[in-house]
Amino acid sequence: MDTKHGEHSSGETTDLLIDEHILFRKLAYISPNPTLITNTKGEICYVNPAWNQLTGYSFDEVKGKNPRILNSGKTPRRVFRKLWSALSSGQTFSSDEIFDKRKDQSEYQIYATYFPIKRGDVNEFYVQVQHDITKQREMNEKRNMFISIASHELKTPITTLSAYAQLLKKQLVYQCDNKNLALLSHIIYETNRLTNLIDDLLNVGRLESGDLPFYPKALNLSALVQQLVTDLSQTIQTHTIEIKGSIKGTVLGDKNRIEQVLTNLITNAVKYSPQANRILVHLSTTATMAIVAVQDFGYGIDKKDQQYIFTRFYRTQDKDEGSIAGFGLGLYIASEIIKRHKGKLWVESKKGTGSTFYFSLPLLRSYN
Ligand code: ADP
Repeated sequence: MDTKHGEHSSGETTDLLIDEHILFRKLAYISPNPTLITNTKGEICYVNPAWNQLTGYSFDEVKGKNPRILNSGKTPRRVFRKLWSALSSGQTFSSDEIFDKRKDQSEYQIYATYFPIKRGDVNEFYVQVQHDITKQREMNEKRNMFISIASHELKTPITTLSAYAQLLKKQLVYQCDNKNLALLSHIIYETNRLTNLIDDLLNVGRLESGDLPFYPKALNLSALVQQLVTDLSQTIQTHTIEIKGSIKGTVLGDKNRIEQVLTNLITNAVKYSPQANRILVHLSTTATMAIVAVQDFGYGIDKKDQQYIFTRFYRTQDKDEGSIAGFGLGLYIASEIIKRHKGKLWVESKKGTGSTFYFSLPLLRSYN
């Protein structure tokens, strides 16, 4: 993630009653953030104690040298290109893709913010304020590895359980054993729930390692929605699902993945509107996009939660929803799938009234 900002506020006049030079020295000295300053010739002219501690270098060992000597070679070139274009136009630049090496040659990753200090219109110094994110990255990698191994290991027994449950169901139907069939239906329901949760975990692992395959082809989205709603209506007893409108055209998409997104939106609409009994699926087109919207009349989502629900593992803290099972992965997976189709997924919702989840996909061909 790289970000560019406008002119840094250090250029503004302030009414500080103390010498700014002393203030800067003191702040940098006690700051837990490693800080490094170079002049316009690219020579290191200041480092603070936090930086000494992170890198193992003393100031004398790096004084006058170019910070390039610290680069581990792993920072992508595009980051440097963006950095120099931002600094030369007087802007602040941040990136979490900076990889440097310590004196003992071990690598570390930092989130760094760079900004120029100007005299008049001319850059005089470049300041780099760092945040060591090495541990955070390692934790993320371990967590992803754990999720991936655990979900693979869980998938095999659950698939076997599911297969035997279906076999048993056939026998009980044949024997007209309704009492045991009712018991078995609970086992099948819970097994399906577990399968869906494990599939979500597996998908997240694959999405992050870039291993989730996509097989795009021309799709008639109207027909796909129609078929999926018919299939889902067989298993959803509590709500009716109505389709409004149509999509005049085709989109380029992976049928299974788009079905996965729609299934997630519709099952969420059911899950989070237990007091309602209907769901609307709106289909429409603009000049360039096909739009599908799934509307429910349930709990709704607070404004403060709406920006987070598409991130991994995020679930709202709503008390009413406390008993509803989930990992907070479905919308993250759905939004990643839609992004890979060059589309957009968003929500409009009002607490207590209901939610409408929209996704748009670029039209391949439109017809009237
Ligand atoms: P899960 O449903 O498994 O928790 P999702 O990623 O599908 O995970 O959803 C994330 C969170 O967004 C849910 O926990 C819920 O709080 C909220 N949410 C999703 N869909 C709806 C909906 N239709 N109505 C209200 N809240 C919703």
